[in-house]
Amino acid sequence: MMTMIKVKIDKTTCLGCGGCIIICPEVFEYSKEIKAQIKEEFREKIKEANIGIITDAKLIKQIKTIESLCPTHSIRIEKST
Ligand code: SF4
Repeated sequence: MMTMIKVKIDKTTCLGCGGCIIICPEVFEYSKEIKAQIKEEFREKIKEANIGIITDAKLIKQIKTIESLCPTHSIRIEKST
């Protein structure tokens, strides 16, 4: 069973449509540039707003949904255990 994922947002392709923020508001928020970013508490490094580490099963499920629904495929699950 999956217990941890590393998720990455590609800010160069994110449209700022807000889909990920609607599906998983606990993890995703808007940046000042109106792109998606990871909330501080889930970041691997505090200053890297596009990389998150998620261990909660409910949130992992939501992020897997977002990975398939993001219109520009800007959200990738890079690593899972
Ligand atoms: S769903 Fe994709 S394009 Fe839309 S805000 Fe999130 S990362 Fe950006």
